[in-house]
Amino acid sequence: MTALVLVDLQNDFMPGGSLAVSGGDEVIAVANALIPRYGLVVATQDWHPSEHVSFAANHPGRSPGDMVEVHGLPQELWPPHCVQGTPGAGFHADLEVDRVDEVVRKGVDPDIDSYSTFFDNARLRATGLEQLLREHGIDEVHLMGLATDFCVRFSVLDAVDLGFDTVVVEDGCRGVELEGGDSARALDEMREAGARIVGSGELL
Ligand SMILES: [Zn+2]
Repeated sequence: MTALVLVDLQNDFMPGGSLAVSGGDEVIAVANALIPRYGLVVATQDWHPSEHVSFAANHPGRSPGDMVEVHGLPQELWPPHCVQGTPGAGFHADLEVDRVDEVVRKGVDPDIDSYSTFFDNARLRATGLEQLLREHGIDEVHLMGLATDFCVRFSVLDAVDLGFDTVVVEDGCRGVELEGGDSARALDEMREAGARIVGSGELL
């Protein structure tokens, strides 16, 4: 059985949000078109406490875009985003959340970030997504969402690593693009790891 995983379709990642991804809102229509095709639809949420380690505001003298080291891991610093319970952490208003079966939250630990929807960045803590998929007998996972070069990228690499047949819906993704070309490089990396990159038209 195949599951659809909608990565972080949250207001703070949409145009006008605190960590806006260009064109992020354009993928909502893709998500809504795909949702009815799947027996299991999972939506993930970046879900940070306000004291989260990824927020530049929590590192005196640092700015968004700076790199720091946290527990021996490199950590990009971001503007505060997706703070638990705030409107920015909510799903885009046009996303058909009534048709989402399960919500998985990540980045809940103040001391460690979680780009992947499967594990935090140190792989110390699982989000529960893998267990959820296994319980539903899922062997193939289709992913789309935000952002191509961060949370989609790491989620896809983990999905492949965990042995799921993994498909990325390219037109359902948009990237942060800290450097031009990051999204294209991320897609190449996912393809080389074993994921299949498709357009939503091939799935509808
Ligand atoms: Zn985050």
